[in-house]
Amino acid sequence: MFHGYNFFPEIKSRFLRKPNLKNIQVLIWDVDGTLYRNDNLANEIYNSFIQIVAHHLEIDFNTAKKIFQKQKYSRKTWGQKTEKITGLKEKDVLYVIEKQVDKSDFLEKDNKLIALFKDKKIQKFKHYILTNSSRHQTDKVLTALGLIPEVLNFEEKFTLESFKQIKPHRSCFEKILSHSGLAPGSHLMIGDELVVDIIPAKKMGIKTCHVYSSKKSKYADIHLKDIESFSQIL
Ligand SMILES: [Mg+2]
Repeated sequence: MFHGYNFFPEIKSRFLRKPNLKNIQVLIWDVDGTLYRNDNLANEIYNSFIQIVAHHLEIDFNTAKKIFQKQKYSRKTWGQKTEKITGLKEKDVLYVIEKQVDKSDFLEKDNKLIALFKDKKIQKFKHYILTNSSRHQTDKVLTALGLIPEVLNFEEKFTLESFKQIKPHRSCFEKILSHSGLAPGSHLMIGDELVVDIIPAKKMGIKTCHVYSSKKSKYADIHLKDIESFSQIL
């Protein structure tokens, strides 16, 4: 039983009219926090970041946690906070976490997600993965959720190893645009983090779908309460 934070409070989808996907040919998927939500896993990863801070600053866990929770870091992701506090490169920190935590231990087959991706209406798009997770963990997560190649083939999976600089850096999005060879406006980025997934994509002319969004944002073309709701806009 999990007694920590409520990382994922319930929210509502916001759209008055069905969003228009007419010009979209490519769907770009974030993975963690977008294709699954899991409190126990989130807690494990959260604690791993704090342990890195504690180890690096040679302080105890609770002191590190207090530093981590300071207001001035509130708009940053856990990786960005750790970089800011310790001076370690976020990408190096993420590699450590990816080796420490086996995400697939926490996940199971998701029949609703499988049904979404098996839908003929979604199969007509080209699909990319764009994640700050390692290739090894990404493949394990997708397999654990049941998103095996028989369900959906991704054109390419862009992972931690694919880039010098990770999301939200624009080079990550540029790489996908050059791979697809299509105009930015033909792509839809689907992600749960405004700063990492949605804002950088929107600034490049890519359409955006913010899932699990608790606040409306001018950077998101579509707001969805969860990933299963994606079927409603197809
Ligand atoms: Mg995410």
